[in-house]
Amino acid sequence: MNLYENCRLCPRNCSIDRTGGKIGFCGESSTIKAALASVHNWEEPPISGTKGSGTIFFTGCNLKCVFCQNYSISSEHSGKEISVERLSEIMLEQQARDVHNINLVTAVHFVPSVIKAVEKARQNGLTIPIVYNSSGYEKADTIKMLEGTVDIYLPDIKYFSSKLSAKYSSAPDYFEYASAAVKEMHRQCENVIFDENGIMQKGIIIRHLILPSCKTDSFKILDWIRDNLGNETYVSLLNQYTPVYNAAKYKEINRRLMSIEYTRVIEHFFEIGLKNGYMQERSSANSSYTPIFDFSGL
Ligand code: SF4
Repeated sequence: MNLYENCRLCPRNCSIDRTGGKIGFCGESSTIKAALASVHNWEEPPISGTKGSGTIFFTGCNLKCVFCQNYSISSEHSGKEISVERLSEIMLEQQARDVHNINLVTAVHFVPSVIKAVEKARQNGLTIPIVYNSSGYEKADTIKMLEGTVDIYLPDIKYFSSKLSAKYSSAPDYFEYASAAVKEMHRQCENVIFDENGIMQKGIIIRHLILPSCKTDSFKILDWIRDNLGNETYVSLLNQYTPVYNAAKYKEINRRLMSIEYTRVIEHFFEIGLKNGYMQERSSANSSYTPIFDFSGL
């Protein structure tokens, strides 16, 4: 069965035939499109380590975040079409750069192709872990398909409130889907494994970008993680929000995060007994963290 023919890979359930060139909410046909393959040094320490993470940024997205830093590829669809064969070669080229892992960024709308490409790359010598870097807006059934392909999940949980997810990402059902998808990722990778240098080989790190004026929503997400996944879950609290793209249309988020807001979320993290957190310096809110999508490495 070709899952692109009646595409229901993600919560948008567009039910269109992408093999015939039609596009749904994510804006992509069944041909893989990517915008950059590079070595990324700014992921969490067990992902970027000392040698970097071999990122592959895919074009298109099933969310419409008004503050998207990568809008040129997510909404404006800048990218280069590549075959499954070529994607598998890119993974091997990344491995040859001596990176710690292959980091697939926003690949939900290309999952069937990704599975084939990883299989091919492994047949041809790929041994480093596969990281699935996701917005969290996923179906648990699609995540189930990735069992055995993905070693490390790096999902966002962006919102608890459906009002916020509707307003800023056009997805009122975001938390309903993200919570189920993250539970499935956790089921697959609950037993976290690090190598002797502290580099993650298997596991899950949940990311949460704290938005200005929204710390109560952040508290609810942390409470949910503790109650549903346990207090040893690895959580990365991101301080890098920058009001870019369409954020200026929303007064309450048209500013950087205040230090006090970030500090309060970190305090809540510890108050409720969570143990494993990654925190960011304030200097992280800097556009130098936004990659330049010049199709290099593709
Ligand atoms: S992957 Fe794209 S076409 Fe398929 S359901 Fe999601 S948004 Fe629609």
